[in-house]
This record gives sequence, C-alpha cells and structure tokens, in this order.
Amino acid sequence: MTGALRDRIKALIDATGPIPVSQYFAMCLADPEHGYYRTHEPFGRSGDFVTAPEISQLFGEMIGIFLVGAWHAHGSPRSPRLVELGPGRGTMMADILRVVEKLAPDLYGTASVHLVETSEQLRAVQERTLAGYAGTVRWHTAWEDVPDGFTLVVANEFFDAIPIRQFVRTKDGFRERAVGLDAGGDLCFTVGAATLEPDGWPEREDPLPEGTIIEIAPAREAIMEGLAGRLAGTGGVALVIDYGHLVPGPGDTLQALKEHVYDPPLAHPGEADLTSHVDFAALGDAAARGGAHVVGTACQGDFLLGLGLLERAGRLGSGKGLAVQDAIRQAVERLAAPGVGHMGELFKVLAVAHAPIMLTPFRPRD
Ligand code: SAH
Repeated sequence: MTGALRDRIKALIDATGPIPVSQYFAMCLADPEHGYYRTHEPFGRSGDFVTAPEISQLFGEMIGIFLVGAWHAHGSPRSPRLVELGPGRGTMMADILRVVEKLAPDLYGTASVHLVETSEQLRAVQERTLAGYAGTVRWHTAWEDVPDGFTLVVANEFFDAIPIRQFVRTKDGFRERAVGLDAGGDLCFTVGAATLEPDGWPEREDPLPEGTIIEIAPAREAIMEGLAGRLAGTGGVALVIDYGHLVPGPGDTLQALKEHVYDPPLAHPGEADLTSHVDFAALGDAAARGGAHVVGTACQGDFLLGLGLLERAGRLGSGKGLAVQDAIRQAVERLAAPGVGHMGELFKVLAVAHAPIMLTPFRPRD
C-alpha cells in the first residue's frame, strides 16, 4: 500500500524520537511487511535499476572465468562451495555456472551452489532462473548457514544494500545523523545524540568543516570480517563488486532510485531502492581483521578487460547480425567504459583469499 511504511516510520518517530539513518535504511529495505526487497522486483526496465548481470551475460561469464582461475590457483580442491550473496534474479549465477561447466567440468561436477537471499520474492525468481540446476542449488538466509569447506564467494551489488551509519560534524564533534519530523510532520534529516567512537574516523590535522557528513558501515564490515574468518579457516576466495570508492573520504552517498531516476532518500520509504557507496578500503581492512589477505582491488572496467571481456565479446558477436553486434558493443561499453552512465570506473572490485596469492587479473600490490 502506497505510503504505508512512511506512516509507520512517522508514527515510530512521533512515539520515540528521531531514528538513526541506519534504522531508517534497514526499515526501508528489509521491513518484513513493507520493505523494498520484500515487496518489489527491483530489476530491469520495468523496475527501478539495472545491474551488471542484467546488462549482458558477458558480466557473469567473466566472473565465472575469474572463479575457475581462483579454483585452479588453490590446487583445484574437490567439492567447493560456490556461494553468492544477494543473487537478485539469479542471472549472474546462471551465467557463471554455464562457463564453469564448460571450462572446469571437475569444478562443476563436485561443487554445491549456495544462494544467500533474504527476500522470498526474489528467491522464487532465482528458483525459476536456475531451474536447470535444481539438484545443485540451495538457499540460505544467512551466509553462516552455508556448510563448511573450500569456498568461492561472489557478491555483486550486495554490500550497498546493507545499512550504514552517518555522522554529521557539529561544533561539538560528530553526531549521528538521524531521521525526524519537520514542523509540517514530514520526514526530515536531523542530528541525533549519539557521538562517534574515538576510533570511528581517522584523525586529521584539519578538522572537517561543520556540516560535513561521514559514513561508517559496521554491519558491512561485520559480514566481511565473518566471511574472511570462514575463508581463513576452510580456504577460499571472496569477490566483491559494487559502486564505491577505493580511497575513503567524507561525503553523503545515501541515494534512492525509483524507476531509474534518483529520488530524495526520504521521499518514498520502502518504494524506492535505498543504497550507499561502498568503502572498499574499510571492507579490505575488515577482511584482514578476519584473517584473510587482500588479493587486490580494481575498477570494474580494468577487471573485466583483464579477464578477456573484449575477446569474449568478439566471439559472442561473431557471425551474428549487425543489430546483435551493436547491442554487444553497447553492453561492453556500459560495463567497462569510464565516465557518466557507464560502470567501468564507478564500480570497484575487491578480491580476498585465505592465502597471499596472486589471481588474474589483479596486479601485485605496491
Ligand atoms: N546481485 C544481484 C542483485 C543485487 S540487489 C545483481 O547484481 O543483479 C541486492 C540483492 O541482495 C537482492 O537479491 C536482495 O534481496 C539481497 N539482499 C539484500 N539484503 C540482504 C541480506 N541482508 N542478506 C541477503 N541478501 C540480501
């Protein structure tokens, strides 16, 4: 029902006072009754946004090639767990499995596939997409439920959907950014009472100007740290892809998307997708705390090109009509080119592993 979650949030704030951005974020996406991922099918032209696997099969195929390389680099262990966090429509896993079956029959033949998904609705979509792999695929609501063993994890646009906390620089230091009610009773941003723990933001010589917003993501880091702990114990690799930054810095990146257009984050709670940029340096640090090694970070464009995107696109288009070839060219550009409207530079990739190994296409770290 339109506006139902907004009314609930307003009533909650009215009764208890402003709620932290993290709580608003969590309610918008995951409220059991009205949360965005519980009630919407977000993807595609009729949805709110398009993700890389939905642009072209080439994306999932490149991830498949990376995973096959990572598996070989670890001595081709038998019975690996192939895990995806937040699989959306299941498209990327379908593209990965097709490539894995072709390039590494031993991996394909002994792997079990584990999809970690909280949305019942999207799980049903994934079941349809992956119907051909019914015996191999299992679903879990938390990654901790995936059975132990050598693990290959992938997560595309998963971490951006995990809530963040925001803090505002005031004259009395950092205060948690919150959602309250304005004089007219509408949702508005305000400043709450909670302060930032002393080690929550790196000390700087020049204090940030008043009003500056910073973001931390303890919930994301906790997932990464836990995953890294699992990898350190049983062996494996995790590959994280998302929009965000490799070098941390201040700034408000909370954003809502509705029908492919940016929407003010407080305008349509539960009816627009709500995300924020991912701090890859913080995720890498969390992985290290959990006992894993950062294999490398890269921009999505460099990562895909390094895995042979252009060669694969050429083969996919060969012998096809001009319209198909043109569509492939456009998809390659959207996935790998830099600049506005393209994903090549905005999206970043982080790979972590239980051992300090090299994996194509990452370069040795300085
Ligand atoms: N990877 C997909 C979908 C990205 S959207 C793609 O690239 O197309 C985010 C996905 O994460 C959705 O499937 C959503 O339901 C799922 N999700 C969000 N929060 C989650 C959580 N806490 N645990 C597991 N899955 C979650």
